Amino acid sequence: MRARYRNAKDTRWLYRLEDRTLKYNRFANADRPMDELRKIADRVWAAEGGSRRKPTIRGTDGVRYGGKQYSFCSGFTDIVLARAQRNVLVLLHELSHALGPCVHGAKFIKLYFRLLHKWGGYNRPFLQSVAAERGIAL
Ligand SMILES: [Zn+2]
Repeated sequence: MRARYRNAKDTRWLYRLEDRTLKYNRFANADRPMDELRKIADRVWAAEGGSRRKPTIRGTDGVRYGGKQYSFCSGFTDIVLARAQRNVLVLLHELSHALGPCVHGAKFIKLYFRLLHKWGGYNRPFLQSVAAERGIAL
């Protein structure tokens, strides 16, 4: 129960961060066609995925959470991008799940923020200060 509560808190924090703070990056937040996102995912995976199988990336309506439709990654191999979330930010979020943890704890944030810097055009000191709010050192 305790771990579950922490996971829910981490998820709320992260979603709020994506909605309110990480959205100020045009490159990462621009709506893109699925084909373009798959090409970006190919490049990211070639550099980050090692010998792991690249996940399939599909566009659907996503899954409902707190009144909104969200994208998700299931079982490390299947990424679903919700209609309103077809952008590099969400793609990198889901690729971080495919490469690592399913929960949004410190391990996930470290990986996700590394990808946001390398592939999403976010500046590192900015990401470090955001992570520090949560007690996470990048
Ligand atoms: Zn997630």
